[in-house]
Amino acid sequence: MMQGIVGRAVDAMTDLGARSISAVVGPSVCGRCYEVPEQLRAQAAKVSPVAASVSWQGTPAIDVAAGVVDQLQARSVAVKWIWGCSRESEELFSYRRQHRTGRFAGVVRLLEAHTEGGV
Ligand SMILES: [Zn+2]
Repeated sequence: MMQGIVGRAVDAMTDLGARSISAVVGPSVCGRCYEVPEQLRAQAAKVSPVAASVSWQGTPAIDVAAGVVDQLQARSVAVKWIWGCSRESEELFSYRRQHRTGRFAGVVRLLEAHTEGGV
């Protein structure tokens, strides 16, 4: 999120001919649980203002998923955000909480272009 990788990926896909991009953003550590130094929050806010957050303790925090969703929507990508905090929920994997490795998956799928009339 801080490096704008999501936006650059969308730009690259568009440059290669993608015309209708949709994305799903899954659960992650939430903006209330991702405490960071003030300087890092300020840097995140420059990249995506909605990423600036406040932790449960009232300290600076960032909401990475909100920043990613913002970057996608800024490029007119249809986004489905499946919200969930991986630190708070026992049902979600979290290295920070469990201190053991787990698995993540990312999927990119190319669909046939639709033409008018449903052909
Ligand atoms: Zn949380």
